Amino acid sequence: MYAQIIIDIVHENVARTFTYLVPPGMALEPGQRVRVPFGPRQKEGIVLALTDSCDLPPDKVKAVTAPLEDYAAVTPPLMELAQHMAQQAHCPLAETLRLMLPAEMRGGRVKIKTQTVAWLTCPPERLEEAIAAQGRSQKRRTLLTLLRDGEKHPLEELAMLVRDPHQALDQLQEAGLVAMAQQEVLRRPGGVSFGGSNQDYPLTDEQRDALEKLTAAVDAGQGAFLLHGVTGSGKTEVFIHLVRHVLDRGRGAIILVPEIALTPQMVSWFQARFGPVAAVIHSRLSAGERYDEWRRIRSGDARVVIGARSAVFSPVENLALIVVDEEHETTYQSDRHPRYDARDIAAWRCRREGGELLLASATPSILSYAKSRRGDYQLLEMPSRVFNRPLPTVELVDMRAELETGNRSIFSRRLQTALRDCVSRGDQAILLMNHRGYHSAVSCRACGHVVKCEQCDIAMTYHVGGRDQLLRCHYCGAVKPPPETCPVCGSPHIRFFGSGTQRVEEELRKLFPSTGIVRMDLDTTSGKDGHAKLLDEFRSGRARLLVGTQMIAKGLDFPQVTLVGVVLADLTLNLPDYRARERTFQLLTQVAGRAGRGEKPGEVIVQTYKPEDATLQSAATQDYNAFFEKEFQRRRTGLYPPFTAMCRLLVEAESPPAAERAAAALYERCGALLREHPEWKKRVLTLHLDQPPVKVLRGKSRWHVLMKLLSHPDADAFCAALTAMAREGAKGCEVYFEYNPSTMM
Ligand code: ADP
Ligand code: ZN
Ligand code: ZN
Repeated sequence: MYAQIIIDIVHENVARTFTYLVPPGMALEPGQRVRVPFGPRQKEGIVLALTDSCDLPPDKVKAVTAPLEDYAAVTPPLMELAQHMAQQAHCPLAETLRLMLPAEMRGGRVKIKTQTVAWLTCPPERLEEAIAAQGRSQKRRTLLTLLRDGEKHPLEELAMLVRDPHQALDQLQEAGLVAMAQQEVLRRPGGVSFGGSNQDYPLTDEQRDALEKLTAAVDAGQGAFLLHGVTGSGKTEVFIHLVRHVLDRGRGAIILVPEIALTPQMVSWFQARFGPVAAVIHSRLSAGERYDEWRRIRSGDARVVIGARSAVFSPVENLALIVVDEEHETTYQSDRHPRYDARDIAAWRCRREGGELLLASATPSILSYAKSRRGDYQLLEMPSRVFNRPLPTVELVDMRAELETGNRSIFSRRLQTALRDCVSRGDQAILLMNHRGYHSAVSCRACGHVVKCEQCDIAMTYHVGGRDQLLRCHYCGAVKPPPETCPVCGSPHIRFFGSGTQRVEEELRKLFPSTGIVRMDLDTTSGKDGHAKLLDEFRSGRARLLVGTQMIAKGLDFPQVTLVGVVLADLTLNLPDYRARERTFQLLTQVAGRAGRGEKPGEVIVQTYKPEDATLQSAATQDYNAFFEKEFQRRRTGLYPPFTAMCRLLVEAESPPAAERAAAALYERCGALLREHPEWKKRVLTLHLDQPPVKVLRGKSRWHVLMKLLSHPDADAFCAALTAMAREGAKGCEVYFEYNPSTMM
């Protein structure tokens, strides 16, 4: 027997299978990890296939050293998926196979954890006699009593009740009364309890209608759905009922969420309802926890997986369902190599494994909604909130008028009054400021100079930390003290401009000195449970006001929140991105959706300098369809996705001339390729060489070749050529090919 093996090295030269002999007595299956001799060393590899014969002369074939596990770490559908992805991304299979395993598993960086356990071996009817026979040893008597139930008790647990039990246990073992052994323990991530109810609610009519269609499709083993349910329509409850249906049929499910830390509620709801059958996978787990959760999934002990993007690769067998919650979130796209979109992977797996795909959102992405129009997804709608609770009212406040009438505060009078009313009613409020720090930028009033990060070409943000005042770069983390005078013209009138979350918090403290306030942004939520602690502060009611960036807009369910304020909607609207309107609509709808989820109705106040803007208007009326129609037309006339694909070859290099030269060469090669392939050229609308908005990032100079392609198979062929070009790279530079990237900055 021979094994075709992929060596776990990402390099073009070894991007093929190698043949090894399977020594007699060793049983292997495809997907299993093995150790093999490779050159002078031992390497890890994965069995791709087994064959009876081999073309090589027998003395050339080395034997597999040993299997690393006694099961296939990569299941057959995931082996196929890795091959499919490698083909699509034009990258070595070893690279996509790595996505299918917890990173720690490679190179044996994580071990199975064991503990010593002890249990009673003496027959129960002889126990009294045995206890009596222990004479003066109180310890041995107590231990025998503790072990009376016949269960296996970890030594750690016994040691809490009996000091230093080791010697006494050894004696009991010698006397044949007790046995001891090493036993594997699974490290389980400690869930943050979030008041998860463990009871299923009786469903509303809308929920039941959606669920009926969804369960029918699960039973049929196919189907792709887009669930458009307004905020508070109870989508999670539908998922829970659906997952229960899947489990009852002995099958498995994967629930994808944008980011685990931001969805502690979803996790605790699932854990409360499903217990250990649910596994949680996310980036903040320790290596051991991640490995053990993965093994619980692989062994089938856990059949529901909740996790962020990469959980889509979980080895759930007999997969019946993949849910992508908040499907419009950009976090489902991985920008790291090999690039993938979790929604596409989910769709692929469902087709391959006979599962149902369910995308859900209150604000579906333009791309997914367009697909549902085309019939790729069946559209399910839940247009009302549970118990017919009203959607919050949204009011746009014109900040120009505030300034004209002499209000220089960052809060309009309307918002100040609403905040005061809210606090005096004993309710809670959320304030969104989509920029962290104190002021957004520091600029000179005399010459207009903006203080930028030297590494990144991005305006630095003013932060106040204790007694320190610092400028901080939000891209690379660089800090420096704010200048006293303008470094360009020497003017002392160098000022702070705009505002960030920290400033909002401070202004709030002035207005409400005795009210608990929590700020949530990247600066305050570092650390393992950073988010959870702050959210708990707010949920418990100790804090009444929550200030934060977009991270507070998502998925939170706080029934006491009756007011949401958006401090400046224009920040998102003015982003230099063709998706700025889509992002704004999503953000406003999501954050507005945090208000009025309990018994009391909610109110939303959106401050802006452009109240006449059509996107803000449709966000104010929460009319998704109106927004979609307008935006879809705009994409059609402006030739933006989904009508086209925006792509680029991005070059980054330490040396600015190297980056520019490499980008220019790539641009030339693109031109040449298109002259060779007139059929590709027909699909290319624009092609130009430029510097991206962010010209320097983390000390690297950047250039890009930008292109807009019509969606067509010939354009795909061109993209394949561009991918290959990027993989070849350029001397002293990094080259990336990006297809509809989440940002073009
Ligand atoms: P969405 O994700 O659609 O915004 P959620 O799933 O967070 O909405 O549900 C909103 C709230 O309504 C939650 O507190 C949830 O527990 C509650 N809920 C959902 N379905 C029901 C139901 N059928 N009966 C009572 N309460 C429900
Ligand atoms: Zn100046
Ligand atoms: Zn920087």
